[in-house]
Amino acid sequence: MTDQAPDGEYDAWLDSIEAGEGYYLECGNGHGWLPPRRVCPQCHDRDLSREGLPDSGEIASHTTITVPTPQFEDDAPYVTAVADFGPVSVTGVVRGADPADVALGDVVGLEVGERATTGDRLVVFRPR
Ligand SMILES: [Zn+2]
Repeated sequence: MTDQAPDGEYDAWLDSIEAGEGYYLECGNGHGWLPPRRVCPQCHDRDLSREGLPDSGEIASHTTITVPTPQFEDDAPYVTAVADFGPVSVTGVVRGADPADVALGDVVGLEVGERATTGDRLVVFRPR
């Protein structure tokens, strides 16, 4: 038995962000998660519903990467961050801001971008 849905569900979630219809999964007790999930990891509720992701979030933590792994070589320096969108925490890369200017509590929008090095899709936070 596993709590994880197939990997394709995360790609589908990225598609929903690109379409402007981002969502998260919420259990009956109001815990929010990003897909893939089948069970709430906090209360083990299996009744997860899709809720619309808020348009903007707030940066809860951030780290500036100046010496990246090879797959991020052409992106450096860049800022990885965790931002709270309502009840869910989303991890992504901040773009459109000088790394030195990124601060806790910054309000950011959510979009899908590409890694400069590999072209893989990733979550991008854009300061509002
Ligand atoms: Zn829960």
